[in-house]
Amino acid sequence: MLVTLQHIRAARERIAGKVERTPCVPSQSLSERAGHPVHLKLEHHQTTGAFKLRGASNAIAALNPQEKSRGVVAASTGNHGRALAHAAKLEGIRAVICMSKLVPENKLDAIRRLGADVRIIGNSQDDAQQEVDRLVAEEGLVMLPPFDHPDIVAGQGTLGLEIMEQVPDATAVLVPLSGGGLAAGVAGAVKSVSPHTKIIGISMARGAAMKASLDAGRPVQVEELPTLADSLGGGIGLDNRLTFAMCRGLLDDVILLSEDEIAAGIRHAYEQEREIVEGAGAVCIGALLAGKVEVSGPNVLILSGRNIDMGLHRRIVCGEAIAERAA
Ligand SMILES: *Cc1c(COP(=O)(O)O)cnc(C)c1O
Repeated sequence: MLVTLQHIRAARERIAGKVERTPCVPSQSLSERAGHPVHLKLEHHQTTGAFKLRGASNAIAALNPQEKSRGVVAASTGNHGRALAHAAKLEGIRAVICMSKLVPENKLDAIRRLGADVRIIGNSQDDAQQEVDRLVAEEGLVMLPPFDHPDIVAGQGTLGLEIMEQVPDATAVLVPLSGGGLAAGVAGAVKSVSPHTKIIGISMARGAAMKASLDAGRPVQVEELPTLADSLGGGIGLDNRLTFAMCRGLLDDVILLSEDEIAAGIRHAYEQEREIVEGAGAVCIGALLAGKVEVSGPNVLILSGRNIDMGLHRRIVCGEAIAERAA
């Protein structure tokens, strides 16, 4: 394995006191529906509203003093940028965040308020990445990518360690899947402790880059499309070094959801669990509700983030947003 349990345990020590240990609670309605205990890992309550603070805090804490003095830069669909801005501010170092125009306004504002230098470049993550490469080459900033980096994966893996302490008898863990940093880290931690626990990745059908890459046997590009799960958008990088191999080796299955199924997840989280989650944070619930997951014992569903535009959330809960998109 490319990121080991030892690496993940070291990350946990490094980020202690900088991130929350989030609750993992049983869901009565989902347990009844599944016929087995279903637990929700409430990671959307993490500081900055998503798990990305784990990886960002670990990667920044692992920099040497010389690297810290140069500052950090990343391309981000929002939550990684926000996490990096937060962690950089705590350390008193400079952060530049590059994003595509697809990133929602609410996420942009949050990052600006944390004092980061935000740059909007082009229509895709790949365009934003070109600006990152320029800043690394010309200004000497240190790139901390959203997923394909050992310290980022190890930081996200701390979530898996918590899950195994909170639900030691879990037979499956459902993980929202985009670039695969979260899935690789969680799978690395969980499989080291409990090799038979299944790890199921959940993506949106509209632009599922990791699924397409796993099917092709190598990283491939897919068209980036607007989706309710905007935090799952973007490619895995044609030169992916780490997360593709880890996901290929460790994931037991990948499930794809329609926009309606993601919306149903957001609605269920709100009405039955009293939780506000963004699209990416709702996909595990959506997959279970859609009957796409075979449940054979206690399951843990990761609710990965809550940074949704509240106007959009209101329209989804009222059942409007899907019709609007189809029009
Ligand atoms: C980034 C993100 C994901 C996906 O994580 P990857 O490591 O890219 O697979 C899932 N949910 C939320 C809320 C995110 O911000």
